[in-house]
Amino acid sequence: MTLTFDPAQLAIPSGHHIGGKFVQLGKADIDVLRPSDHQPMGAIEDGGTEAVERAVAEARRSLKESRWARIAPRQRARVLHRWADLVDEQNEYLARLEAAGSSRLISLTAVGDVARTAEVIRFFAEYCDKLEGDVTATEEGTLSLVKNEPYGIVGTIVPWNFPMITAAWKFAPALAAGNAVVMKTSELTPHSLLALADLAARASLPAGLLNIINGLGSTTGSAIVRHPDIRKISFTGSSTTGLAIIREAGIKPLTLELGGKSPQLVFADAGDLDKVSARIAAAFIANAGQVCTAGSRIVVERKIADELLDRIERRCKAVKPGPTWNADTDFAPIISRRQADRIDSLVRQTLKEGASLRTGGSFMESRNEGAFYAPTILEGVSEDMTGFREEFFGPVASVHRFDDAEEGMALADHPTFGLAASVHTTDISKALHAADRIEAGTVWVNHHGRAPEFTSPAGGFKSSGYGKDMGRAGIEAFLRKKAVWVNYA
Ligand code: NAD
Repeated sequence: MTLTFDPAQLAIPSGHHIGGKFVQLGKADIDVLRPSDHQPMGAIEDGGTEAVERAVAEARRSLKESRWARIAPRQRARVLHRWADLVDEQNEYLARLEAAGSSRLISLTAVGDVARTAEVIRFFAEYCDKLEGDVTATEEGTLSLVKNEPYGIVGTIVPWNFPMITAAWKFAPALAAGNAVVMKTSELTPHSLLALADLAARASLPAGLLNIINGLGSTTGSAIVRHPDIRKISFTGSSTTGLAIIREAGIKPLTLELGGKSPQLVFADAGDLDKVSARIAAAFIANAGQVCTAGSRIVVERKIADELLDRIERRCKAVKPGPTWNADTDFAPIISRRQADRIDSLVRQTLKEGASLRTGGSFMESRNEGAFYAPTILEGVSEDMTGFREEFFGPVASVHRFDDAEEGMALADHPTFGLAASVHTTDISKALHAADRIEAGTVWVNHHGRAPEFTSPAGGFKSSGYGKDMGRAGIEAFLRKKAVWVNYA
């Protein structure tokens, strides 16, 4: 496939996808802009309560008519596999749609995002007939069964940074477990999810099991959270929104995948500094730092700090920003002007509070109309500063130096966030001690970023949320345990 493409030639899906088809309820008056050049890419409507009611009604009808939770589990798996195959067949179109409408580069969506979305669907399809329950210990003449049952209708709300993959982490296990889904797209990146829903319909997923609705968080998102027939909410987004959802959800079970301030703990014995610097730089530069697990705090042993940082700085300066639809672009735009301004104001505020700038700290306006922010390294960021407490969600890292392992591990452990961390050392014992010590949902050793396998559960500790996506835990999140106790004495 030729990677570079013209985004103006793309067919853009429009409307919500409810009950197996595209539906327009009112006026589509929210413009969606391409992050690379801020040109319009279709408009969406804020679905609000009406769209949520429609989607819930369709989900309820579909669960009943299709008996999705009751058919042979293998049959569910077959539908999901068919869908995954269609996603692969449509790789080129989906890769372009995702690249044009988000910060994801075509060089990555073509080989990464779309293929991974298909693989996530397959991964969970394979769980359909492998969800065993338990028989617990009881006295003779009685039988105690523990069954795993789906919730019924689940609500999922997703962010804009990896639109398809983040959504697949939720809809694939939810459907495999036998639920119907009402999902809200991010208002900034709705289109690729609508296209995926269309493919699900073509794969004969019973209409109404997957409903994708567009809209704003405060209206449509909130209507999903509050709907009494939606029995569980799985949310990925910022910690601030997570807290708003906790307040609105009442006694509804929640999975919350929230923000992070993930450290990269680099020991002097990390190995070849060229290789290590490439890894460390990529962890906060990839997708312009718009990654929940971005390695935004470089905690480095003083002995190698300057040598390592010089190399990282060179990499920061060598990035090639450009439109996401150009094959040779290697540095992503910020999703919106508003988000870029937010990053810049957090950087300015941190500098005002006494930090210093090693590199970056400004927009790269010369590139094009998109909001590109230069890879930025801040030094002297102390715990009381904005840049330590707040998630930048941009290509910004702070540097923290240490002299001994104890001090390094203490610095790596953030007081409030605990999404992920990485440890870089050739001493495995040191690495495992750090992994024991750091309070984070994932700790990588000599690596930073989600592993290519889907078997590891992903999710945070502390203000980074609770519950897991992916792995076995990812499907268990969409099941609830029922005890059935029988007296046959
Ligand atoms: P956000 O919290 O602003 O929005 C996320 C979603 O929630 C959007 O669809 C939005 O419309 C919706 N929303 C907003 N207010 C709502 C409300 N009151 N009720 C219901 N829904 C509401 O986050 P964002 O800016 O889209 O994404 C960036 C954030 O997501 C970062 O903090 C990042 O760390 C986090 N994130 C976390 C993970 C993870 O796995 N932990 C993965 C990706 C992104």
